[in-house]
Amino acid sequence: MGSSSDDEGEEYLFKIVIIGDSAVGKSNLLSRYARNEFNMHSKATIGVEFQTQTLEIDGKEVKAQIWDTAGQERFRAVTSAYYRGAFGALVVYDISRRSTFDSIPRWLDELKTHSDTTVARMLVGNKCDLENIRDVSVEEGKSLAESEGLFFMETSALDSTNVKKAFEIVIREIYNNVSRKVL
Ligand code: GDP
Repeated sequence: MGSSSDDEGEEYLFKIVIIGDSAVGKSNLLSRYARNEFNMHSKATIGVEFQTQTLEIDGKEVKAQIWDTAGQERFRAVTSAYYRGAFGALVVYDISRRSTFDSIPRWLDELKTHSDTTVARMLVGNKCDLENIRDVSVEEGKSLAESEGLFFMETSALDSTNVKKAFEIVIREIYNNVSRKVL
């Protein structure tokens, strides 16, 4: 791939998964990040989809292959294959729907069960544009993240708030974990 003969041309490829209850905005977070697109009436197609994003860190090409459940979670059917090999995860709830926040511990358990390595994890409170119908406070999100050792960010796939930041913090953390191991 690419300029592999170049000494400086080291490349990394990491898998990242997005998990969380149905309709929290997983697909839209990915399409906002990867294609700068948002869809108010997106209907999930069943089956896993991923998008690849490339970032330059320390002069190295870092590729993130970001997977979306594409609706599998509606049937509680996120398979171990989905999690396999993931180095990072965005664990998403909807700040306007408390039940999706209450599900987070279950998603974290599932992630732990299926992962075979250290996973850089970000708790994401999506739909922060819906301040007027907020159902989960920023403090609650922060405090859950702290107690579980996760990064935390509120995002809006609708107006783009923090979307790039959330993905890129995870990608950089994976890169740091991996390069620490190599050195
Ligand atoms: P998924 O099932 O978790 O992949 O969720 P989707 O990405 O399909 O989004 C579910 C619904 O929430 C759709 O109607 C989206 O338009 C809407 N949605 C997603 N992200 C946001 C957001 O940040 N703000 C608002 N207001 N709506 C959002």
